[in-house]
Amino acid sequence: MGKSIHPRRYEWLIKKLPENSIIVRGICACRVARKPCQKFYDGKCDHPVDTCIFIKYGAEKFLKARKETKKISKNEVKRIFQTMFQRGFFLSLYFCVDKQEYAICICCRDGCIPTVSTLDYNLNGLVKGDKYATLITENCIGCGLCQEVCSFDAIVLESVAKINQHKCFGCGQCLTCPNGAIQLVERTDSHLKIF
Ligand code: SF4
Ligand code: SF4
Repeated sequence: MGKSIHPRRYEWLIKKLPENSIIVRGICACRVARKPCQKFYDGKCDHPVDTCIFIKYGAEKFLKARKETKKISKNEVKRIFQTMFQRGFFLSLYFCVDKQEYAICICCRDGCIPTVSTLDYNLNGLVKGDKYATLITENCIGCGLCQEVCSFDAIVLESVAKINQHKCFGCGQCLTCPNGAIQLVERTDSHLKIF
């Protein structure tokens, strides 16, 4: 698998959507396989499977190869991103082995195979983003919402939220803090990113 999947914040990925080439909506191979997800086997998973957005190299390849894929507009993609982000999914840019961008995945902690491989089996498939979350302590009321939405166990709750920079992938989910107590700042440990 290698370092092929990059959790990124919503706004950054919107900018990655190509202006002049097709965008294709297809099936999430991880959620179809369901192998890592106990919630699926327990009947507790209601996550949709038609949420993979193929771009550039991936859009051309998947449109030819998979009959269930469909072309969609940039505005439809934005709507899907927004809806799924609000449901607590995180978004990731996916590369092929030859480093070509080919999909933007809408991932969950339990079903995304690269995420499970990285977090549970230390296989190092995810690449950290160019930013990480930090707390504006005076704004935090300790409600715990950020801890609930972080898929990477990067936040624990003491009297206020405590964010572990080394576990943070910069996905931006915690920016939904209702008190504006979280901001993303640039990473200086540049070995953690590839672009
Ligand atoms: S969501 Fe915001 S206010 Fe609530 S614990 Fe997290 S940082 Fe603090
Ligand atoms: S701390 Fe925030 S930005 Fe970092 S991984 Fe968790 S939700 Fe994403």
